[in-house]
Amino acid sequence: MTNTIVVVGAGVSGLTSALLLSKSKSNTVTVIAKHMPGDYDIEYASPWAGANFLPMSTREDSRWERRTWPEIKRLAEQVPEAGIHFQTSRIFRREKDMEGPSCPTDPMFDRDPWFQSVLPDYRELNTAEIPNGYETGCEFTSVCINTAMYLQWLVGQCLLNGVVFKRVIITHINDAKSFSHTSKPAPIVINATGLGSLRLAGVQDKSMAPSRGQLVLVRNELHPMFTTSGTEDGITEIFYTMQRPAGGGTILGGTYDVGNWESVPDPNVALRIMRRIVDMCPEIANGKGIDGLDVVRHAVGLRPYRKSGVRVEKEKLEDGTWVVHNYGHAGWGYQGSYGCAEGVVELVNEIRRENGENFHDEPK
Ligand code: FAD
Repeated sequence: MTNTIVVVGAGVSGLTSALLLSKSKSNTVTVIAKHMPGDYDIEYASPWAGANFLPMSTREDSRWERRTWPEIKRLAEQVPEAGIHFQTSRIFRREKDMEGPSCPTDPMFDRDPWFQSVLPDYRELNTAEIPNGYETGCEFTSVCINTAMYLQWLVGQCLLNGVVFKRVIITHINDAKSFSHTSKPAPIVINATGLGSLRLAGVQDKSMAPSRGQLVLVRNELHPMFTTSGTEDGITEIFYTMQRPAGGGTILGGTYDVGNWESVPDPNVALRIMRRIVDMCPEIANGKGIDGLDVVRHAVGLRPYRKSGVRVEKEKLEDGTWVVHNYGHAGWGYQGSYGCAEGVVELVNEIRRENGENFHDEPK
């Protein structure tokens, strides 16, 4: 028996969900989206991400990232065309960031983080390895994803599994079911619309908000990647660097500004981002300061922030159509992508069992 599914959204969440669903012989999957890989638009978060793997979920709810790392690691080791490479990550902490209202809650700044048993080569740095202005730090092996390559690679993998893509804008989640490439309406719809879930009728999740991220992409090279627990430029301004594989340039970040919808890069913010980087890592610009940075572009993306955390759950609409939600990943959509998509597959299988279907989840 064929199970017809429409996935709404072609960001990393929709594409990874489509990929895992399409591995099963019994699923027929259509992906519909307003934006597709290759587009750069303020309503489409995925192309703007760095992206690296720095765990952000708490110990209790770390399943999404724990389950994603093994697959991302496999791709970095064995599938060069996916555009993912290993990069050493160094995190520097300041005592003053560890208390008070602006204290970063991400476990990446913990002294004894849960992910030290997951990400390879974890160690605390010794004093000689810590730059001025920071008290402690750690190092581990992470990855950087060239998102322009990786999103296209995901599309290719979906196509190999028979997924059909359509450019469609829906105004109500209930409209999605009629866009299956089969002649039948889909009984199951996956909602992976990211920040679109704030306004999409039938969802209209008011706990969604943009978390604005401004960054600078440069041709200069820098290893390893760096992240700090805070900056002197206010709580919305953060510090991170990573070098994308396959000539993708180096990302200089950034900002994390919840509630800010501005799509145009702010030149003052850009100057501060570049100044912070050349101050800490003068070698990136051969000691020439900001003048030594070779800028490809200034950019802004809106992370799909959800106050109460990611929503991976099923919901039955009045007409009997099931919606499986997978949105609200804020700044960790790539590093949680396989874990969340596995959650989607489990929910889809649960729905099918509840519907009395007797199916075998046979791989293609
Ligand atoms: P999106 O990529 O926004 O995709 C939403 C999709 O839904 C699009 O295809 C859109 O067209 C479609 N859609 C929406 N509404 C409709 C509608 N009504 N009809 C049809 N289609 C619709 N994550 C990491 O893991 N690591 C990082 O280092 C990292 N760095 C980041 C840096 C920045 C500056 C930013 C902005 C993000 C970063 N992220 C990072 C976060 C990551 O990019 C997001 O969590 C992720 O891209 C969200 O993907 P998504 O598929 O849920 O949403």
